[in-house]
Amino acid sequence: MNKIHVLPEPLIRLIAAGEVIERPASVVKELVENSLDAGGTTITVDLWGAGRTRIRVSDNGEGMTPQDARTALERHATSKLQNFEDLESIATFGFRGEALPSIAAISRLELSTRRADAKEGWALKLEAGKLLSEQSAGRPVGTTIDVQDLFFNTPARSKFLKRDSTERSHVLRTLQEIALANPSVRFEIAMDGKPMLTLAPAKELGERIADLWGISVTEELVSLQITQGPCTIRGYINATQAHHPTKAYQTLFVNDRPVLQRMLNHAVYEAYREWLPVGRHPVYCLFVELDPGFVDVNVHPTKREVRISDERATYDLLFTAIRALFQPRTSKSAEATTFSAPFAATPRNFEPSQQTMLLELQAPLATVPETSQASFSNLRYLGQFQKLYLLFEQGHELMLIDQHAAAERVLYERLLAQVSTRDVARQALLTPLLWDVSVDQAETVQSFLPELEKMGFVLEAFGPTTFALKEWPIVLPETKHAKRFLEEVLESFQNEQPTSQTDTQHRIAASAACRAAVMANDSLSPEEVARLVEDLSACERPMSCPHGRPTNIRFPMSEFDRRFRRK
Ligand code: ADP
Ligand code: MG
Repeated sequence: MNKIHVLPEPLIRLIAAGEVIERPASVVKELVENSLDAGGTTITVDLWGAGRTRIRVSDNGEGMTPQDARTALERHATSKLQNFEDLESIATFGFRGEALPSIAAISRLELSTRRADAKEGWALKLEAGKLLSEQSAGRPVGTTIDVQDLFFNTPARSKFLKRDSTERSHVLRTLQEIALANPSVRFEIAMDGKPMLTLAPAKELGERIADLWGISVTEELVSLQITQGPCTIRGYINATQAHHPTKAYQTLFVNDRPVLQRMLNHAVYEAYREWLPVGRHPVYCLFVELDPGFVDVNVHPTKREVRISDERATYDLLFTAIRALFQPRTSKSAEATTFSAPFAATPRNFEPSQQTMLLELQAPLATVPETSQASFSNLRYLGQFQKLYLLFEQGHELMLIDQHAAAERVLYERLLAQVSTRDVARQALLTPLLWDVSVDQAETVQSFLPELEKMGFVLEAFGPTTFALKEWPIVLPETKHAKRFLEEVLESFQNEQPTSQTDTQHRIAASAACRAAVMANDSLSPEEVARLVEDLSACERPMSCPHGRPTNIRFPMSEFDRRFRRK
């Protein structure tokens, strides 16, 4: 007997449906994207039972003829793709003509629709993909798709669904992304018969973000727009100090499609690195626009992941754009951020008005120095204020350096420089420092011992829950707070797993630098001050400490003149 046979069509449909429709949020996504494709300007989404019992999406788009409505429910029926060339340049969301029949195959579906040129509408009823009835229907122009009892005939699939609250949050996340990508469209969202969120048409993205994320988050965002070759990146990101404890406010779109794009997400984190304390996250809503020929959307059935053919160049552009916003005109960092980007040279059409806006946001009074060389030269030391701030005169400016932040930056870079050459000079502690932890903590400590050792901290197990710190990197002058350092590293790794080796090293170095640096309340001799300033100016990123605080701020004389009303 032959072993291979062709699967029956209904089974094929179920398999295909499972690929596209994972959960209620997938249905919402497909239906709303169809509504947008149809030119809908008001889209209503009603959900019952977190979408398990019923999902209804209505639009005022162009509608369908009865014949088109019938065809739309067949597999691979689409109005959006005529030939193979279209695949390359397709601009609409869907194009595989699979969503509607897939949803229909695993639910009880009603579709009603009317075109502007039709006297009346048309309604179809299906169950498990089979047409039960169709008839004319009175309704306004547009389309309504009503999906009931999702997964009723695929019980295995419905078991994968999570709690209602989880499914609802997936739906809301999906709707939020779509709403951000379509600020001019009105959305009305209701759950179990109660209005939940209404988004009025917004004139621009910022307004929509404010409606969704609230004023307090939005106020601290800065707009970004940059174009290089075929790539444009636009949107909003947080000002350096306005990071957030969660990743809730992060959305990235590629050609208006919300995507998970690890590389680009990483570019944002990297660009913020020294402003981002451990456990904090950037806030952003960014749109990457690329010639469609550069983007392959067919790598994942739900199109959640896309492949960008020139990923590295896009990465560099995004990284450089954010850097340019936050380290404007710092010549050293400009060097560090210029990559061999195949698109073109360094960004050109970066709008100066946005830089100005940023400077105002970051420091209403102070200015950001022209270049790092200029920023620490020709300083005349005036004295120490509150045993914390070092005061300098520089031309027409008064500069304050936070002695602790500056020392941290210096030690952080020195240590990491040694780590990168795999040659960290160590010194033995006179008496090893014993450190007791709990049983579960001991597990975590074990996990970062090797990395600590690579970085010059030799910590050895000394009993099941005791460790002995025996050696310490020479570049760090102070071991007084070594225990505090170890506790901090432990806490950080317990709160959140490091995402990479760079992250691990960053956290260890930042914490060590912090504990070994001069503190507030240490008095410094003028010689020590001079050395600190010299060391700081030799840093690669002298403007902020490893946790993201500024190392220095400046006040122009004109500011004092204004306050004394001299002008
Ligand atoms: P795709 O969106 O990939 O074309 P779908 O299965 O999602 O495939 O939709 C099939 C077709 O049905 C679409 O190409 C479109 O012509 C039509 N259609 C679906 N939803 C709507 C809608 N809300 N308004 C108008 N036409 C629609
Ligand atoms: Mg579609």
